[in-house]
Amino acid sequence: MVNALEQYDPQIYELMRQEAARQSGSIRLIPSENYVSKAVMLASGSCLTNKYAEGYPGKRYYEGQQVTDLIERMARDRVTKIFKADHANVQPYSGSVANLAAYAALIKPGDTIMGMSLIHGGHLTHGWKVSVTSKFYHSVPYPVDHDTGRLDFDYIADLAKKHKPKVIVSGATAYPREIDFEKFGQIAKDVSAYHISDIAHIAGLVVAGIHKSPVPYADVVSTTSHKTLRGPRGGMLLCKAEHAEKVDKAVFPGLQGGPHMHTLTAIAVAMAEADTPEFVAYAKQVVKNAKALANKLLEYGFNLVSGGTDNHLILIDLRNKNIPGRKVAKALDRARIVTNYNTVPGDPAPPSNPSGLRIGTPAITTRGMKEPEAEQVAAFINKVVENIDNETVIEEVGKEVLLLCSQFTVPEHFIINNKTHR
Ligand SMILES: *Cc1c(COP(=O)(O)O)cnc(C)c1O
Repeated sequence: MVNALEQYDPQIYELMRQEAARQSGSIRLIPSENYVSKAVMLASGSCLTNKYAEGYPGKRYYEGQQVTDLIERMARDRVTKIFKADHANVQPYSGSVANLAAYAALIKPGDTIMGMSLIHGGHLTHGWKVSVTSKFYHSVPYPVDHDTGRLDFDYIADLAKKHKPKVIVSGATAYPREIDFEKFGQIAKDVSAYHISDIAHIAGLVVAGIHKSPVPYADVVSTTSHKTLRGPRGGMLLCKAEHAEKVDKAVFPGLQGGPHMHTLTAIAVAMAEADTPEFVAYAKQVVKNAKALANKLLEYGFNLVSGGTDNHLILIDLRNKNIPGRKVAKALDRARIVTNYNTVPGDPAPPSNPSGLRIGTPAITTRGMKEPEAEQVAAFINKVVENIDNETVIEEVGKEVLLLCSQFTVPEHFIINNKTHR
């Protein structure tokens, strides 16, 4: 297929070749990124992209659904099995749309939602001011404690009592600690709010049993399929049986038209992969690598938000280094280490040039890197930060990174043998 592209569209083929080289020749530390398996890649680049399937299995608006109905049912069954959920909707185009659908299913425009503030680790769609979620709904963001970098449940409970939100959102995009979803469920119950839990980042850790699942404590659980879960780019919603119809209607026809059947097919493949002992071992290693990386950074004198990590990501507070996050991220990128600059709790600097750096281990772990390599990565980061204005050193680090990458090739052909699944 790729060879055919070389013939038909050499310009795009060349750019794809360059991007593949970039992905294999750099250490990808963006915690929301990963490498998918060959099987997931094949399913997402398949003939299923040609099929319109508006509606749900057995209730479609176009004919020719003999196969798509079976695929969607299989995807849903695999999702409900690994998440132990009553119901799954696998049609949301992405995590952002999944969140919008969750709100649309449960509340009315103008109602109050309470999600984690973006500058403290929440997602745009949790009611941040530039997101339509803050225009459609009245948003009361909750912070984390500036000193500990952690959620303060007494504060959140008081805020909930004061503002009486209709929805409380748990979950984050840049929070390095395990989240107590049971507590969020209780706080929501106490003020008669719905609890929506967004596990876009940590879904893989939840499936592997490393972090406690929010499924028993949330009305609706929203997730992406492409972060630690290592599937194609997409979104999913899980819910209790009582909300199933509302959730399905919110996705279609509420927000979307035809589902992306190629993505849905690849989600089915990824869910079978996630239902294996190999995936559990992978997810455990993701956390081990993050802890090894974090500990080494602490040794080098970096400050980490909350002092470390329980999951796949680390937030470095660069204020003691007196270098802004963007400058560090750009220098690291020149050294083939790909990160993203990020706000830290209590950040005096604006989100466009904040004081922090967000890194994570899902992608390097898929490449087979373990604790020694994670520590090596910490040493690279330290070297770049210590020599932030020295291009010669940064270039040297880039060469060392390339060497490490050559020893851990991108698993373009990694196959998870799925014997536990039908
Ligand atoms: C990544 C993320 C999303 C959005 O996912 P997209 O697929 O980028 O739309 C939603 N919520 C959280 C917590 C995320 O981290």
